[in-house]
Amino acid sequence: MLNLHNAEFIRSAVKQSDFPDDNLPQIVFAGKSNVGKSSTINKLLGRKNFARVGNQPGKTVHINFFEIDKKAYFVDLPGYGYAKVSKSERDRWGKLIDTYFSSGLITLGIQIVDMRHKPTKDDQTMARWFLSTEMPFIVIANKLDKLRRKSEREENIKVIRETLLLPDDVPVIAFSAEKGDGKEEVLEIIQKAAETQEA
Ligand code: GDP
Repeated sequence: MLNLHNAEFIRSAVKQSDFPDDNLPQIVFAGKSNVGKSSTINKLLGRKNFARVGNQPGKTVHINFFEIDKKAYFVDLPGYGYAKVSKSERDRWGKLIDTYFSSGLITLGIQIVDMRHKPTKDDQTMARWFLSTEMPFIVIANKLDKLRRKSEREENIKVIRETLLLPDDVPVIAFSAEKGDGKEEVLEIIQKAAETQEA
């Protein structure tokens, strides 16, 4: 079992040689700027200000690596989809993501989307990146607390599945980084993925 309270920032990577390549499982988080990626990581780790919330959107084209209990990494991919980003920055994003995905280091992919909205074009592209790895992949539908009606929640999950073209074996987990809904389910998947790779 991973002790998630034992988490440590390792480094911000901007190129391949910065990626840790030591066979520890890598649990990878991706999402559009402002979707609540930092809040989700903090919630899962039971920390308040570990991954920085409210990171200036579009200003962070690097991949943050956190070591968890010396047994796994949480990998925080740079947020995407921020409108005011220059073409050169967008290109840097694409190149870095391509380099990371080509490295074959991913153990489990976790994409965070906003449960209130239909996934964007960028969300669709990101999901394709993950699906193409053929590694375990889950989608977190965040900000559940902002949807009141059960029927709306169910309908939105369906739209997320359809828009991201998710195969049936990819779970979509209703989540609130604010309130903690879905946390246990996600942690269970992370623990399982980390153990599978360890063995
Ligand atoms: P990031 O850019 O994806 O890392 O997003 P942040 O974690 O910085 O969150 C962006 C904003 O959304 C912040 O104001 C958070 O407080 C808010 N937020 C994140 N998750 C949730 C959630 O589950 N529910 C609600 N109501 N707000 C959230």
